[in-house]
Order: sequence, then C-alpha cells, then structure tokens
Amino acid sequence: MNIASTRALGSTPIQATSCVPTAAPQSEAGRAPDTVDLSPPATAAEAPRFRNLLRASTQAHLASLPAAVALALAACERSVAEVELRRFETPEAQAGIRAIRDLAGQITAGVLCEANRTEEIAESRRFREGFLLPTDNPPELAARGQALMDRLEGSSPSALKTKVVVLDGPTLMAFVRGGENLYIGQDVLDLPEEEAAAILAHERAHLLERHPTLASICTEVGLALATQAAGSPPLAAAIKQLGALATAGLQRDQEFQADALGSEMLERAGYPRSAMTRVLTRLQGDRTETSHPTDDHPPLSKRLEALATSATAHH
Ligand SMILES: [Zn+2]
Repeated sequence: MNIASTRALGSTPIQATSCVPTAAPQSEAGRAPDTVDLSPPATAAEAPRFRNLLRASTQAHLASLPAAVALALAACERSVAEVELRRFETPEAQAGIRAIRDLAGQITAGVLCEANRTEEIAESRRFREGFLLPTDNPPELAARGQALMDRLEGSSPSALKTKVVVLDGPTLMAFVRGGENLYIGQDVLDLPEEEAAAILAHERAHLLERHPTLASICTEVGLALATQAAGSPPLAAAIKQLGALATAGLQRDQEFQADALGSEMLERAGYPRSAMTRVLTRLQGDRTETSHPTDDHPPLSKRLEALATSATAHH
C-alpha cells in the first residue's frame, strides 16, 4: 500500500490487525491418521499416492465449502501433489489464487457497510495512537501536507476526507491502511511540490478505492481457508502460500490503479501527470529491479510503462 517498496514501516502495519487464526481446529473427519506420511512427494512417481491421501483428508472439508473455496482447495491439492510445495505456477494454482481474490472481492462488496467504515476509522486511530503517534512534529509540517491534500481534494471531491499525518523522523515514504489517515515521512514534504502531491494523490487513490481493506480481507480469506484444511498440514501450508500470493497479486494490481487514478487527480489539481513518473523513479533510487510472485509492488519499469500508456490515452 505504500508507494514504494519501503518495507520498514510500510508493509508490516497494514496486516497488523489481520485476524490470524492461531491453533487451527482439528476436524475429526478431515484428520489424517497419525501413521500416514503427508510430506510432499519427492518424485513425480509419488504424486498420485500423495494426491489420494490429500483428497481423502480434505474430502470432508470440500463437501461443506462454497464453490470458490472448494476450487481454491482443489487447486492447492493438485499443486502440492503434482508440483512441489513452493511452486504455484500451474494453471490450477492460478485458478485457486483467482478464486481467493474473487471471494475476497465478493466479501468486500457484500459485507462492507457503514459499520465497517466506522470500524476502519477507529482502527486507523488505534493504529496511530498505538504505534506511530507523531509526538514532536511541529504543526506546520502536517499543515503543509494537508494544504497539498486540500488542493487535490478540491479538484477531485469525494465524501472521503483524507487526513495527512506526518511521521516522526526524516523518511521518504508514504502509506495508508484504511480509515481516513494518510501517513507520510517528513522527507516527502521536502520534495518538489508536484512530486509530493503525486505521492499524496497515489495514496489517496488507495483510500478512495478501499484497497487496504480489500487486501486485508484477501489475507484473511486465505488464512480462513488454511484453517479449513487444518486436517492436512501440508495442504494448509499450501493454502496459506496461495493466499499470500493472491494478496500480493491483488496489491500489485492496486499499485497500477493508484498510479493511474493518482495521475488523474494530479492533472485535475493543475499538476503535470509526469510528476508521478518522476517521483516513482526517485523512490526506486538505485535499487536493483527484481520481480517475484510475493512482491506487493510491481517492478518500476512496469509501472512506468502503464503510466505511459494511460498518458497516451489521455492526450
Ligand atoms: Zn501504493
């Protein structure tokens, strides 16, 4: 959710309040006998035997689950059996990842209501008070950030009013985690104005689209599915990984959306769209570009490419 892949503060707090199932309940029906070896198969020849064991141990769960969940479980089962525990590149696994994300999306669409919104705000307040209360910042700092935000909001009005919170310490980072607050490091305010505005616009787009909430739900769906498969530890581990991949994929999509929406916001507020490109490049710094399925941010080159395409579409 943070604009750059700054992991020190940006990634961890987002999931801080996720509901993490602790000791997963053991289902009698789904539990494999103690004598059965459920470790992943070492060779392709062992795969069918392993798949049968998994199928037997998860049948009870599958019968009682919604279709999307069953699909995800089935995909995990095949992945574990036929590939290996840490590889989820088969079409079936991809289908499972999509199922988890779709399910999370349905939950978001169906369940989110005013009560959740109130809860989100309360949560963001608790977060601020519990972890990152900006105690020593002069009020002028927050006022400068808020003035930029007011300009963005003035030209792209919404019922959602965003509050800029400046964190202690000189860091060039920004993130949101639902609710109304947008957190920035002090160094954001030392950037050229249009680049600071680009960061704020990107993060505001995340809030407007309720990205943090959807990502949290996606994580929790994955964890809930893993709990369902508690009778089969390797399967539960596989589902946990699929859930993490689904969440990471979703977050990468969200970055593209936030870049695009943020650029539109910038333009409406009278800033050049190119400020988004410049600030993304600046945040990347001299870090080597890598790409991995568990990354929650897409590679810079892909983001710049997408921005170039959307800029062409606008002119
Ligand atoms: Zn972002």
